[in-house]
Amino acid sequence: DIFCRSLPKIELHAHLNGSLSEKTLRKLGCLDESILEYHKLLNIINKTDRTLDECFELFKIAQTATSSKNSVYLATQSVIEEFAQDNVIYLELRTTPRAENDMTKQEYIESVLKGIKDSKSDIIVKLILSIDRRHDKVCSEDSLDVIVKMREEYPGIIKGIDLSGNPYVGGFDECLFSKAREHGLRTTIHCAEIPNDNEVQQILNFHPERIGHATSIHPDFGGSKENWQLYCKAKIPAEFCLTSNVVCGTSKCYAEHHIQQWMKNDLPFSINTDDKGVFCTSLSKEYEHVLNNFDLSKADLWNITYNAIDHCFASTEEIILLKKKMAEWKETHA
Ligand code: 5GP
Repeated sequence: DIFCRSLPKIELHAHLNGSLSEKTLRKLGCLDESILEYHKLLNIINKTDRTLDECFELFKIAQTATSSKNSVYLATQSVIEEFAQDNVIYLELRTTPRAENDMTKQEYIESVLKGIKDSKSDIIVKLILSIDRRHDKVCSEDSLDVIVKMREEYPGIIKGIDLSGNPYVGGFDECLFSKAREHGLRTTIHCAEIPNDNEVQQILNFHPERIGHATSIHPDFGGSKENWQLYCKAKIPAEFCLTSNVVCGTSKCYAEHHIQQWMKNDLPFSINTDDKGVFCTSLSKEYEHVLNNFDLSKADLWNITYNAIDHCFASTEEIILLKKKMAEWKETHA
């Protein structure tokens, strides 16, 4: 759809390694052939009935493509360039710092930052660093120490911290996220990807700046009435990733996605890709799914993008600039 493609877009939920396109994976594989089990990856991608666990296997394979400083740097640049080509004007990229081979977590983050700084595309990019639910307390606290230190050096780019990883494993460590908050990091937390009322309640009470997916909060989607009421009061902006939910089977189909409850109740949300490589999507395609499956106009899509600006972790000046860009686009395309 030409409209969805040309619309200036805001991406708030994109995991670096899940965003690597086939082209980028090939490029990185050529740099270090031994690291990429490419055919295994494709076989899983081509299956239509993937489970959430299988999707998490895919991430592990994608991560083997970025096990050196140079490959992390090149991957970051490629991902940014591809988002910019899709008319994304603001991108919050997130990634889990990994110590691997002779690369430390700090060097991993530095390589991503270098990729962002060297990017020539006309796009604002910020970085969110992820804590993997799989990791134990010692590993997560070590990551946070590095993240806090790096943020002090790069406060203009490193904006926040995220909790992600397989929702069947581990949990939400409130102490860790409170500590991150005390250090000035914004928080966004994957929440309710699978029904888990206790954890959802803990997360909502913590009140992160944003939550990811928010699949099983509403009672029609497996959540408790109490949590839905809590959510409606808290009104924490949700980051929706429709294709990811449909492919992983946490949503039945696009038309039945829980986004409908947010639209019906006028609750804040944004539309995002999650893992454009692993799920073979783009932000334009995600907008197209929303346009085709719900009773929306093109003006509604513009509003969704415009409102997402208020959920982003950019500076006030950058927010003003983004809104100006959106308004200018509307004038010439109305
Ligand atoms: P990375 O952090 O290595 O750049 O990106 C891949 C990682 O992001 C995965 O290993 C996983 O921890 C996280 N991730 C990607 N997509 C999802 C998702 O849909 N749900 C959750 N919970 N985590 C995800």
